Amino acid sequence: MAKRDYYDILGVSRSASADEIKKAYRKLAIKYHPDKNPGDKEAEEMFKEAAEAYEVLSNPEKKQRYDQFGHAGAGGGYGGGHMNMDDIFSQFGDIFGGGSPFESFFGGGGGQSRGGRRVARGTNLRIKVKLTLDEIAKGVEKKIKVTKQVVCGTCDGTGAKDKSSFHTCNTCGGSGSVRRVTNTILGQMQTTSTCPTCNGEGTQVTNKCNVCHGDGVVRGEETISINIPAGVSEGMQLSMSGKGNAAPRGGVPGDLIILIEEIQHETLQREGNNVVYDLHISFVDAALGASVEVPTIDGKAKIKIEPGTQGGKILRLKGKGLPEVNSYHRGDQLIYVNIWTPKALSRDERVLLEKLQSSPNFRPQPGKNEKSFFERMKEYFE
Ligand SMILES: [Zn+2]
Ligand SMILES: [Zn+2]
Repeated sequence: MAKRDYYDILGVSRSASADEIKKAYRKLAIKYHPDKNPGDKEAEEMFKEAAEAYEVLSNPEKKQRYDQFGHAGAGGGYGGGHMNMDDIFSQFGDIFGGGSPFESFFGGGGGQSRGGRRVARGTNLRIKVKLTLDEIAKGVEKKIKVTKQVVCGTCDGTGAKDKSSFHTCNTCGGSGSVRRVTNTILGQMQTTSTCPTCNGEGTQVTNKCNVCHGDGVVRGEETISINIPAGVSEGMQLSMSGKGNAAPRGGVPGDLIILIEEIQHETLQREGNNVVYDLHISFVDAALGASVEVPTIDGKAKIKIEPGTQGGKILRLKGKGLPEVNSYHRGDQLIYVNIWTPKALSRDERVLLEKLQSSPNFRPQPGKNEKSFFERMKEYFE
């Protein structure tokens, strides 16, 4: 397989400065890190490819040979040009200012760290977003200002006052862990633990940045644009990777978790992807038929009430409900018909109704040409 151009891999020009190269690699290393892409072979390949490109382009001597002779000039030293994961992680000291950015990748404890240095991970940030039924129906972009840990601009996240006050840890020599050999009755035993001086980061800061006091992060604000797809519902969680709190000293930022809350609509009730409306009509309209206006999530709609409509009938407006997330399917609007019985009558009205009271047409005939409540419910839930 032909190798890709190292500059192309990092997405930088041939005239890029060492700093630009480092920044570009840092971005890719975070994006394709195996801890963020578990089981993703393609991401792992990109991760390794980027590490290899950086390995060469960050070394002035190798870079010059590569510029002059291409891959043939830079090859060797890494068995066919490929770096193993440990090589890559040991490189992170320069990139992130202290060890691997993914503590969990090594299983946490110092003993299982496989020699990898440790870089902190920012915590996840949780926010709530309230949405109207309208916004849920159409999807919405919300710009939300969040208060969170951001990278310290003064020290660029290193935590150090200047370059000279940032150096490899003397205790562990930059590996982030210390080995101890003890004599036991079973013979010599070797234990590895997290370096107590640098806390596993592999680097030390002698003169701390006086804005962030060595943390590399400060409290700040960021306006985040969140694209909320149509059809979300109360209690749903969306997650934006890397938009949470920044991590100390150049680690990997946490995620932003967005919890969806619904604002109750004035007249429409949500039931799954369906929208339910409670319609009240007079018994005169029910008997004679009428045209009535009902609210929908797309505005008002006119519907026809057939003469002889019974109370409890459920009308259905197909496709007038809510969309399903990431689907073209839409629910329906269901209109539950209630017959309104007047509670107060004038003398004339009373006379009129008393005339009708004895009419045989006004005597209920349950079950005749009408669906039972049970049948209607079945229809509703189908
Ligand atoms: Zn150390
Ligand atoms: Zn700082």
